[in-house]
This record gives sequence, structure tokens and C-alpha cells, in this order.
Amino acid sequence: MLAFSDLREATYCPRKLYYARRRDDRTVPEAVDAVRGLAHRYDAILAGGCDDELAELAALPPATYREQLRRTADTCPRFDGLCDPADRDVLLTGRDCRGIAGKVLTDPPVPSVVSPGKPPENGVWEPHSVWAVAAAKALAWERETPVERAFVEYPAHGVVRTVAITARRTAAYRRAMRTVEALDGPPPRLRNSSKCGPCEYADTCGVKTRSLSSLLGL
Ligand code: SF4
Repeated sequence: MLAFSDLREATYCPRKLYYARRRDDRTVPEAVDAVRGLAHRYDAILAGGCDDELAELAALPPATYREQLRRTADTCPRFDGLCDPADRDVLLTGRDCRGIAGKVLTDPPVPSVVSPGKPPENGVWEPHSVWAVAAAKALAWERETPVERAFVEYPAHGVVRTVAITARRTAAYRRAMRTVEALDGPPPRLRNSSKCGPCEYADTCGVKTRSLSSLLGL
């Protein structure tokens, strides 16, 4: 049974998964949990509260955050459900993988996974797409009903993105499964990848990150 987190790491970089698995402590840091907690305070934030939490945990000043969250509330198709989900922090166990969904909505069932990070300009990062598909597949297996989409929440930024479970996304999820299953020893380093700069294992990995100017040949 594969872990959602392993699929996510393998999609980012198979070598990163190799390092993550060798760590003794893979518990989620308290700071990450605290940021994710903002995803459970949308109603209070929109009502004008939680300024102290926003000042401490959000990536935007409280007033800007609130404006962004209002835009999210206006555009997200099930924002009310995300404010008051049927279940929170649920362990989902599917046929192939298992892990925690931050929220589960019902009628129809939709999982939401919650990232402490920053969203891309549009859509979701590829590791988060794989994570969302994994949660949707596991929920579909448990409920014995198709799950056609998932949400990825970025509560530090007041953003929620919808992920349709398409054939392309499912193919990426299956590729990640094969990568995790085949992991045996350290995979090759990525070459000249922007992923290496923010990677927590960059020092251990010994990868040489090149400056933007050198990549551009300046
Ligand atoms: S530094 Fe780069 S190659 Fe090494 S584990 Fe991280 S992302 Fe992968």
C-alpha cells in the first residue's frame, strides 16, 4: 500500500523520495499543521476575525488575504462545503494507496488536500495533482462510487483550486506509483532543475544549482 506522501515526493523528484524515506522522523512539523489550520477558519476569517492568526501564518496581510478569500468563495464551486466539511483529517484507504485528506465533502463525495505552500499562477503543481488524484481514487474505492474531482487548498494564500480527475492526471498518478514501487537505491539527480533550489535535501544531494544568469548563458 503506497502513501500519498510518497507519490507526491516521487512526482517532485524520485531522489527526494529516496532521501525522505531514509529520515527517521517523517512527522508533519507543527508549523505546517498551523498553516493548514487556516483552512478550517474560512468562515471566521470572512466574518472579519482571526487577524492574529493571519498575521502569524498567512502569506498576505489580513486585509489582502480576506479579499483573496472572498474571490475564492465566489469562484469555488463548493466553498460552503469546504467551510463545513462532513469529515476532517480523514485517513482514506484505497486499493493502491492511503493517506490523509484534509477534508471530505459528500453528495457527491469530493476530497480536499491541504498544502501549506504557495499555489502556481494557474492550476496546481504536478505533485499536488498526483496527491489529489490519489485522494480521489482512495475515496472512490472506499465509497464504491466514482469521484470526479478533488480540491487542493492553499490556505496560506486563501486559494482553492479544483482538480478534475482526467485521463492525463490519472496517467501521471500511475507513473508516480510505478516510480515508488521501483525505488531501489538512489535515483539520478535532476539536472539543472529549478526544483533543486528549494529542495530540503539539496545539501545532502550535493546537486549543483546554477544561477539564472548562468542558465541563460549570461
Ligand atoms: S536537490 Fe534536486 S536532485 Fe537532489 S533530491 Fe532535491 S530535487 Fe532531487
